[in-house]
Amino acid sequence: MSQVCKEGRKSLLETEAKTVCMEYGIPVTKFELARSEEEAVKFADAIGFPTVLKIVSSDIIHKSDVGGVIVGLKNSDDVRHGYNQILQNVKKHDPKARIAGVLVQEMAPPSTEVIVGAIKDPQFGPAVMFGLGGVFVEVLKDVTFRIAPITEDDACDMISEVKAYPLLKGYRNTPPADIEAIEKILLSTSRLVTDCMEIKELDLNPVIVYEKGAKTVDARIILE
Ligand code: ADP
Ligand code: MG
Repeated sequence: MSQVCKEGRKSLLETEAKTVCMEYGIPVTKFELARSEEEAVKFADAIGFPTVLKIVSSDIIHKSDVGGVIVGLKNSDDVRHGYNQILQNVKKHDPKARIAGVLVQEMAPPSTEVIVGAIKDPQFGPAVMFGLGGVFVEVLKDVTFRIAPITEDDACDMISEVKAYPLLKGYRNTPPADIEAIEKILLSTSRLVTDCMEIKELDLNPVIVYEKGAKTVDARIILE
């Protein structure tokens, strides 16, 4: 994060944010930053198919808004095509965007999506946020907050108090989600934002939760 400050940047790249998450034991998708089409293919081969490509640019915060995310690439040809497509999409949207490279990343299978976040309140300091992804957070604002640091009981209460909680316990053909894995991510996030007071906003959106385990597929960290 000191490097980010030195460069006068206010937001971490996804690679940087995920590296910080890993240091705090938050599970993230495997990734490598490719700087050429050849590298992208090499990394995709190593990580395995299907794969995901994403733009990495300090000028682009919402990657899918600019055609900067392509999921479900099945083979090397898809990766070559996707690599060029992403750069073309981004150039069309913002010709001056500084591009660090294209992130090649493990594709997490679909499952229940949740959001873990943190914001810093000028008065109360950092607070941790939890909710289910998609319409639950965007339309219904079904989220909950606790001032950090949070306890294990807080994490447990946060998860069970959102209205969408029954969905995490399993319904119809959707199996129950690993609640313990979410609790761990909430606690790690709390530790992270308590340790790093320069974090103004943190957004793990989405975290995909399985019957066993969870994976953060997108991480954003904004500094003060
Ligand atoms: P942004 O929020 O900046 O637009 P994301 O990295 O969140 O970009 O990607 C957009 C969407 O693509 C995610 O909400 C998720 O549904 C899907 N996605 C992104 N990365 C992965 C991945 N590694 N595995 C599976 N799905 C992914
Ligand atoms: Mg996202």
